[in-house]
Amino acid sequence: MAKKDYYELLGVDKNATADELKKAYRKLAIKYHPDKNPGDKEAEEKFKEIAEAYSVLSDPDKKARYDRFGHQGVGGGFNGGGAGGFNMEDIFSQFGDIFGDSSPFSSFFGGGGGRRAVRKGSDLRIKLKLNLEEVANGVEKKIKVKRYVSCKTCSGNGSKNGSSLQTCTTCNGSGQIKRVQQTMLGQMVTTNTCHTCNGEGKVVVERCEACFGEGRVLEEDILTIKIPAGVGEGMQLSMSGKGNVPARGGVAGDLLIQIEEEEHPTLKRDGNNVVYDLMLNFADLALGGDVEVPAINGRVKINIKAGTQAGEILRLKGKGIKDINGYGVGDQLIYINVYTPKQLTAEERSLLEKIKSSPNFQPKAGSEGKGFFSKMKDLFN
Ligand SMILES: [Zn+2]
Ligand SMILES: [Zn+2]
Repeated sequence: MAKKDYYELLGVDKNATADELKKAYRKLAIKYHPDKNPGDKEAEEKFKEIAEAYSVLSDPDKKARYDRFGHQGVGGGFNGGGAGGFNMEDIFSQFGDIFGDSSPFSSFFGGGGGRRAVRKGSDLRIKLKLNLEEVANGVEKKIKVKRYVSCKTCSGNGSKNGSSLQTCTTCNGSGQIKRVQQTMLGQMVTTNTCHTCNGEGKVVVERCEACFGEGRVLEEDILTIKIPAGVGEGMQLSMSGKGNVPARGGVAGDLLIQIEEEEHPTLKRDGNNVVYDLMLNFADLALGGDVEVPAINGRVKINIKAGTQAGEILRLKGKGIKDINGYGVGDQLIYINVYTPKQLTAEERSLLEKIKSSPNFQPKAGSEGKGFFSKMKDLFN
């Protein structure tokens, strides 16, 4: 896209004086100001273009180069790009004062002492260990944290009884110091944070004794934290405003809670499911019957059907973990394992010898259930 002529953009001719340039820029900047044209991309682009034009034409060196070489002569100053290379922050920090204190945007530009950023305190980080039951059902925990809270004696401003404050005489309460320089282009104004009051605009005459003027005190706080069901290891929850309050007023930071999962002695978590390895002997599997297995909320009785094969998986629907996003509940999966005795008495041995060749004890390939390898094959095909 061809760049527009800077003089044309500002609507001035080549012999315009610094004052005329400034006036032209001010008029256009107010017209296209983003506060006046919220969400209007075209106005924003125009605002950037005129700022770029003014930044060149108001600088005698750049102006001279521009007059001789056109855009090529000054291209380097803004990443060589178009107006897009000129960001809003630059514009406000460089040309904010052109609007002066009486402009409708004075608070935006820090004129008139209106702009003091709200300070935010630091975040507080804690780790919270949860067992499987707490993870599965959600839990409400009361925890002790040491955090900075606003001093009640001085209401957080750090002065004695909260009222021993005086407007800073260095900056007259604006929190900022303006330096006005006379240059050949007219007044140049720079704004810096006032060092006497650190930009607060007020100074403490007599300190609060409870907080030594800091406006905050370290306190042990007991917080109730609601942990939703379905959280997992490493997940971070945050409670806004439960972190530290900054010195002398402001907004408290956040409390960041990192979840740690305690391992369950017998149940393993697999996503929202829990897995239990059930070990039964051959006779139990052949005969069937009821067995008790551990579950998240206590033990449950399950029925093993006669003739259950090793490697079968039983599913207890809805006995898993609630999904954190509310997508239902997981299951408990019970993996059937067969236990083979390692030692046998003479009697046990003779019983087994007696039945081992009976017809029903001969494995039938592919008829009853599937072996481990064919199951794996099913999984991958
Ligand atoms: Zn205090
Ligand atoms: Zn000050």
